[in-house]
Amino acid sequence: MDKVQDIVSDRPEQGGLTAAVVLDTLRKEYEPFPSEPRYDPVSELVFTILSQHTSDRNSERAFKQLMDNFGSFEEVAKGDTQLIAQCIAIGGLASIKAPRIQQVLNLIMERRGELDLYFLKDMPLEEAKSWLRDLPGIGPKSAAIILNFALGMPAMAVDTHIYRVAKRLGLIGPKTGYEQAHDVLENAVEPEQVFPFHVALITHGRKVCKAPKPLCQQCVLAYGCPSRDMGNK
Ligand code: SF4
Repeated sequence: MDKVQDIVSDRPEQGGLTAAVVLDTLRKEYEPFPSEPRYDPVSELVFTILSQHTSDRNSERAFKQLMDNFGSFEEVAKGDTQLIAQCIAIGGLASIKAPRIQQVLNLIMERRGELDLYFLKDMPLEEAKSWLRDLPGIGPKSAAIILNFALGMPAMAVDTHIYRVAKRLGLIGPKTGYEQAHDVLENAVEPEQVFPFHVALITHGRKVCKAPKPLCQQCVLAYGCPSRDMGNK
């Protein structure tokens, strides 16, 4: 917690809206948000690997082709790596992602005796994050996606859109790093608001607070944003 306090002190002294106001305003603008889990936790884990450096659309196609060909993750874990790479080729970096997926699946089998991650829901949040982050290629964003999206735990996943929007709004300080931003934003709202906060910020980043040029004149947060009109400069 001290770490979080230090980071919070890096916030701008003036300007900026509170996380609660940002969330409330963006909810009114963009709801409804999805309410059902997209995948079970093992599927979400495999999906996070497939989605690295590609679009959601391509990762969904890669995921579907993988499951159409192998039928189960147990089969993927012991399957032919070249064939896995062919199935997921549409998502790019297949020669890296195929062995990574197998490595992670086999490690889960080794550590748990089965391919099931629902046990994480019974762990304290930080312990569950550490368990996942101990797997190769699983960083803070992937761990939070699995815990939040598939298990409903209050872990905040921060992607490039959320990081940019949070910095422009002053929700994180100018020196707050990407990894630290996960802790700061997670602590900025109530646990049950973490998922809508994630969806609200990502939607705003995609639609209005774009990189490199934000559409400040269309922004519902412009009245209190310390970075407003940066898109006109
Ligand atoms: S006012 Fe501009 S910089 Fe601030 S959140 Fe809105 S779009 Fe982004």
